[in-house]
Amino acid sequence: MKKLFFITILFFASNSLYALELKGTFHQGNLILGKTEKKSKIFLDKKEVEVSDQGFFVFGLSKNRKNDVLIEVVKNNVKEKYIKKVYKKTYKIQKIDGLPRKQVTPPKEVYARIKNDNKLIGEARAVKSDLVFFKDEFALPLSNSIITGVYGSQRILNGIPKSPHYGLDFAAKEGTEIKAMLNGVATLSERDLYYTGGTIIFDHGHGVSTLYMHMKDIYIKKGQRVKQGEVIGTVGKTGRSTGAHLDIRLNWFDVKLDPASVLNLE
Ligand SMILES: [Zn+2]
Repeated sequence: MKKLFFITILFFASNSLYALELKGTFHQGNLILGKTEKKSKIFLDKKEVEVSDQGFFVFGLSKNRKNDVLIEVVKNNVKEKYIKKVYKKTYKIQKIDGLPRKQVTPPKEVYARIKNDNKLIGEARAVKSDLVFFKDEFALPLSNSIITGVYGSQRILNGIPKSPHYGLDFAAKEGTEIKAMLNGVATLSERDLYYTGGTIIFDHGHGVSTLYMHMKDIYIKKGQRVKQGEVIGTVGKTGRSTGAHLDIRLNWFDVKLDPASVLNLE
C-alpha cells in the first residue's frame, strides 16, 4: 500500500494572488482536500465552506455530479475564481436474485424503525465540528482487505432496481478486528439498526464522517475519541446482511462519497 493517499494538484498561476492547493482528483464521488492561506474564505459553488485556522478545507463531489466546480478564494475583499471540471465514473450493475422477499422490500411494521434509524444516521452526519482529522491519511480498516463490493453499483435485487450501493465491502470472517481508519469522535454507536445492524459513525471534522456497519462487537461509545488503528469492534453480519463482511461509508455531510477515493484503492 502506498503511503501517499492523495495526488496533489497544485495550481499556482503566476498572476495568482493567493495559493490554492487541492488534493484529490475531481472524479464523481471523490473527497477533495484543500488548503489556502490563513484567514482566506472559501466559497464552493457560491456557498461558504469552513476553513480551519491553518487554512484547510474539504468538500465532496456527489455520485452523479456533472457541473463544473466553482471555487472562489476571498482574502482582503479580493476574489479569485477557479473552475474545475468533474470527471465521470463508471458504475457497475450488480444483480442479486433469489433473495428472501423481506430483504428486498422491508415489511410495513419496520417502517417506523427505519425512519428512526435514518434520523439518527442523518443527525450524526450533519455534525459540523472544527476537528481537522480529515486532512490526515486514511488507513485500511482490516489487515486483510479483499474487496467484494464497490461504491456506486446499481443494485437489482430479485429484478427490482434499488438505490445504489454507496459503500465499500470487504470480505472478512465474523469476529475479525476492525480498526479506525482515521482519528475521530464517535457521533453514533448503535447495536441494532434495521439495515446496518451494529453501526458506528465517526466525525473527522468539517462534515467528513465515516460509518462502519454490520458489526458484531462494538467497543466504542457515542462521544468517545478514537485514534487511527484503534480496534473499534469486530466484523459481523448484523442488520440486513447476506453474510459476514465489513461495509464502510464516507460522507461529506449528506453527500455520499467513495471510500476508495481516500484509501488509495482506485
Ligand atoms: Zn455493502
